[in-house]
Amino acid sequence: MSKPSIYGLTFEQLTDWLIEYGHKKFRAQQVWGWLYQKRVKDFAEMTNVNKDCLQLLEEHYDIQTLEEHVKQESKDGTVKFLFRLQDGNLIETVLMKHKYGYSVCVTTQVGCNIGCSFCASGLLKKSRDLSSGEIVEQIMNVQHYLDGLGQEQRVSHIVVMGIGEPFDNFENLIDFLDVVKDQKGLAIGARHITVSTSGLADKVRKFADVHSQVNLAISLHAPNNELRSQIMKLNRAIPIEKLMDAIDYYLEKTNRRITFEYILLKDVNDKKEHALELAELIADKRKLSYVNLIPYNPVDEHGQYQRSTDEAIRTFFDTLKKKGINCGVRLEHGTDIDAACGQLRSKQIKKAK
Ligand code: SF4
Repeated sequence: MSKPSIYGLTFEQLTDWLIEYGHKKFRAQQVWGWLYQKRVKDFAEMTNVNKDCLQLLEEHYDIQTLEEHVKQESKDGTVKFLFRLQDGNLIETVLMKHKYGYSVCVTTQVGCNIGCSFCASGLLKKSRDLSSGEIVEQIMNVQHYLDGLGQEQRVSHIVVMGIGEPFDNFENLIDFLDVVKDQKGLAIGARHITVSTSGLADKVRKFADVHSQVNLAISLHAPNNELRSQIMKLNRAIPIEKLMDAIDYYLEKTNRRITFEYILLKDVNDKKEHALELAELIADKRKLSYVNLIPYNPVDEHGQYQRSTDEAIRTFFDTLKKKGINCGVRLEHGTDIDAACGQLRSKQIKKAK
């Protein structure tokens, strides 16, 4: 029978669990060190942990619940992993190399119910949430890959932007963040972690209350309700005004800069008038926001959308700049592999059919 991943436990949860079974508190410290510093792949390698404790761990948990199914390596250092979960589902994880270090983009759900019309993953409905352990394990597997290169590189940044809506799996997301931020473990700084949401307004508020130092990105993609509802089904339930109220709450509470993600779709939302409308919409948040313009990466599944011309991208960018909006155009990673969100997974699923 399959067992949950040990990586799903926060340090406090592991400590409480071991104490409950009659073990001393310091065992948690030892186990944690083996998992995150020495990064063993088998409980049996935890040589200073006593036999009873090892047996208990083995009875209840697994260290490896993800199995590497496909790995694609790009010339620019991007590596895309497709992992098979214990129940046979496939998920994607992407490693990206930047000047400032290595970042990993993790998946939080199997499929997604948000239904963004440009997204390859949105075509595959959510079948379940990932456990916190399955999310942490994506980072650990990528770290093991880096360890294998023998260059002492570490995952320094995380973006929670893979398949799924992280705020629709809120409790597991929070446990995941607690584990990866833990100073005794991976110690990835809150400011090096970005969570991206399609705009679940209630959860934006809740997130501001619990994780005020983690970066937040909002997938906006349109400057008005009509267009946004066309691009993102979710906007019919949570219109822009409601989202902006929640963002105001977030900004007030955290005083942290927020990022607006804006995917540029040719002749849909990339005109100068859209840029002006966007500048107007976020004018009062100018000092605490940044707009990330993302040229669309065409996928077979969504033939109705094309990439904006370079001229349209430039005009959009210049228009925002002239209005005093902080913005940039996102550099692409892994264009020679299936880099768009969900592309590799949907191709593999099609192949298996
Ligand atoms: S873009 Fe993100 S939130 Fe939207 S359907 Fe795709 S995975 Fe879901």
